[in-house]
Amino acid sequence: MERVIIIGGGPCGLSAAAELQNKGIDLLVIEKGCVVNSIYGYPTFMNFFSTPELLEIADIPFVVTGEKPTRQEALTYYREVAQRRKFRLHSYEQVDAVERREDGTFTVHTTKRDGSRADYATRFVIVATGYFDNPNLLDVPGEELAHVSHYYKEAHPYQGMKVAVIGGKNSSVDAAMDLYRAGADVTWIYRGETYSSSIKAWVLPVFESMVNKEWIKAMFNTTVTRIEEGYIMVSENGEEKTVEADAVLALTGYHPDRSLFGGLGVEVRAETGEPEHNPETMETNVPGLFVAGVIAAGNNANVIFIENGRFHGGLIAEEIAKR
Ligand code: FAD
Ligand code: NAP
Repeated sequence: MERVIIIGGGPCGLSAAAELQNKGIDLLVIEKGCVVNSIYGYPTFMNFFSTPELLEIADIPFVVTGEKPTRQEALTYYREVAQRRKFRLHSYEQVDAVERREDGTFTVHTTKRDGSRADYATRFVIVATGYFDNPNLLDVPGEELAHVSHYYKEAHPYQGMKVAVIGGKNSSVDAAMDLYRAGADVTWIYRGETYSSSIKAWVLPVFESMVNKEWIKAMFNTTVTRIEEGYIMVSENGEEKTVEADAVLALTGYHPDRSLFGGLGVEVRAETGEPEHNPETMETNVPGLFVAGVIAAGNNANVIFIENGRFHGGLIAEEIAKR
């Protein structure tokens, strides 16, 4: 029987592992990809918005060369944390389901990289599965086509292409500017009336200037109605229009996937969409089942990030140590 299984080896899952370890509590992290798999999937050349000390976990300093960490530095840092702390970590093993047994313990069912299955009995479960695997969909015909993506890595492959970038906050703005600089013909499509106040203050003037100079075409009050090969149909201020697009990047944000809670009886707060949990311990209404990181967020997932989600592990470890 395991004492604690942490599902997800992102920054918040790793932070929980470190806090448990500090209290001498044995733990196993099960991660479906590599360590900090979500950050691995972020744009290759991105810089974090947070300064490094706000991303630190496990009492290990995060030292970088510039003011803000690059994705590469963050990968190195979290990898190093996992290595230094010698966590028991099963990477490339996906948790498929969690069952609660009559005695109040849990069985965690997984599939390993080679396709084989495993079951683990455990007293406590911490779900720290984040949100990055679940993009907010446009829900329009054609979204499933091969030239449509909800993820952006880097601009190079798009040189000389017409690219429609959908979404109005930081991911879409960063990608649009990057793509323009690499020689793509960019149309940025946003459903809002004007620039979002969420766009970082130091980014907005540069982006706005690119739009004003018509280096990037910006469409406000515009929603996508259909995606076809080579073009998309949009409604701009209620008027149907065609926008040429060889590639479509729908950078519309993410939401947590709560399917692992299915059947366990975790309640969802009607007003916020959050899984029912005690904010002082992060324990859900199911005894022994905890949430850490973005999975604890509701309909607005952007209220939990590394800066604050990294503290959930400390609360959880405190509670588990008492039992
Ligand atoms: P994640 O980092 O998403 O980790 C969850 C892990 O669980 C993943 O590794 C995933 O593979 C794994 N997993 C999922 N399902 C399963 C399963 N069934 N079985 C096993 N493993 C599973 N926040 C900041 O504080 N500062 C920033 O500057 C910042 N910049 C960002 C930039 C971008 C482009 C994005 C998208 C987000 C940024 N954020 C930032 C937000 C931040 O990255 C997330 O809030 C953070 O990753 C949340 O950590 P987490 O551990 O909860 O989830
Ligand atoms: P986001 O902040 O959730 O923004 C999503 C955007 O897509 C919003 O403008 C939203 O519109 C729009 N949208 C959502 N659903 C839509 C739909 N169905 N149809 C059309 N438009 C839709 O997502 P994000 O920009 O990917 O950012 C995610 C997180 O990453 C944030 O925490 C952000 O701060 C962070 N980030 C950090 C960096 C960095 O550190 N360098 C870079 C990028 C992002 P509304 O405005 O109307 O809601």
